[in-house]
Amino acid sequence: MPKISSKWTCQECGYISPSYIGKCPECNSWSSLIEEVVYKKLPKSNLNSSENLFSSAATIDVQSVQRIKSFDKELDNVLGGGFVHGSLVLLAGEPGIGKSTILLQVADYLSNKLKVAYITAEESIYQIKLRAQRLNLDSENLLLLAENNLETIINLIEKEKPEFLIIDSIQAIYHPELESSAGNVSQVRECANKILHLAKSKNITTILVGHVNKEGLIAGPKVLEHIVDTVLYFEGEKFHNFRILRATKNRYGCTNEISVFEMKDTGLKPISNPSFLFMSQNKDPVPGSTYSAIVEGSKTIIAEVQALVGGTAYTTPRRVVNGLDYNRVLQIIAILERRVGFNFSKHDLFVNLVGGLSSCEPALDLSIAMSIVSCKQDVIPSKKTVFIGEIGLTGEIRQVNQIENRIKECIKLGFEQVVIPDIDTKIQNSRIEIFQAKKILDVIRHSLTTAQTISKPKHNCCP
Ligand SMILES: [Zn+2]
Repeated sequence: MPKISSKWTCQECGYISPSYIGKCPECNSWSSLIEEVVYKKLPKSNLNSSENLFSSAATIDVQSVQRIKSFDKELDNVLGGGFVHGSLVLLAGEPGIGKSTILLQVADYLSNKLKVAYITAEESIYQIKLRAQRLNLDSENLLLLAENNLETIINLIEKEKPEFLIIDSIQAIYHPELESSAGNVSQVRECANKILHLAKSKNITTILVGHVNKEGLIAGPKVLEHIVDTVLYFEGEKFHNFRILRATKNRYGCTNEISVFEMKDTGLKPISNPSFLFMSQNKDPVPGSTYSAIVEGSKTIIAEVQALVGGTAYTTPRRVVNGLDYNRVLQIIAILERRVGFNFSKHDLFVNLVGGLSSCEPALDLSIAMSIVSCKQDVIPSKKTVFIGEIGLTGEIRQVNQIENRIKECIKLGFEQVVIPDIDTKIQNSRIEIFQAKKILDVIRHSLTTAQTISKPKHNCCP
């Protein structure tokens, strides 16, 4: 296609300008616009077909949307019931988190029913085969290709006509007509657009792998998220065994569903009841550790919050937070100081969510506060207790959603007591003791009166 003009695109946000400007008006970054070519003829979208007519909404049958079921029910749930035929899915995650592993499992399972092609632009086909062997997959019907030139890929796909296509990764392939290197914003966008056209015109269900940088953004433009139908995020800590798959965009389903996997030698195994993953191995209660129940999609997970309060050697005490919202923890510390009367100005504070889990749910507030108080006062709740509730600035305990589901999960995991917000209706359950609290002070009093002080370990080094 002949090149007729140029456009300037922002490398940070994808903003397009007809002429060069020094500062992007969209994201305010300097010198981020680079020149790109504009083709005379853009690939024709099949949506613009003159045969398109209006349809009556009543005649559209949603059930007729064909879905491809993967090897796992949990994964299908995240997608809204499976991969939709001809859809473009982006699987994003940090390098080394297991994106290629789960996709190889999907590809191997589907290759027994469909024609599946796996294109690797980062590894050799021998590496893929070795991984498949490690995962005990036979991968007999799987088509493998190591290629990073987009035109070659498209030519081969049009010849081979697979029904299911995986491209690993979008940042490693390049369009030969663009001068910029692979992974560059204009490359990623141009390649993604070409692949979208291929997926839609040939009705090939396509998955793109996208690497995410440390800040949690998909490396390259945000526009990638606009091009695809579904964005799946693969989260987890490299040093922990569990992984969470979350849909952040889904044109064919809801986006609040998650599924949890455990990384094993034989690949990723789905976990339908993930609560035990996020609890510590402590058999006996320890000061500074309490439990809460958080809701992720249709799942309720019991999470353990641990706090450590110790004297500081600095003029400004340190606050270190992992897996929780930093500002939220600061706010809870302020509430404990102002509404309860603690003083943490001479203490370093460390607050963690166990197991590498991260959550910003307000329902964790009460557990965060109780962990801090428990460590500061060296007390433990006398019963196995779960603390659920948001704390307001005046120290009031505020209502959270899905309280029944959270209580159910507490019962399932053998907890004896649950502390929840005091709402108008009294909640009764014969299988667990329920304490409904209005103020943070009520909870501390209730816990402190029922807690047993344990003796401090005696060291020669501490006074
Ligand atoms: Zn910009």
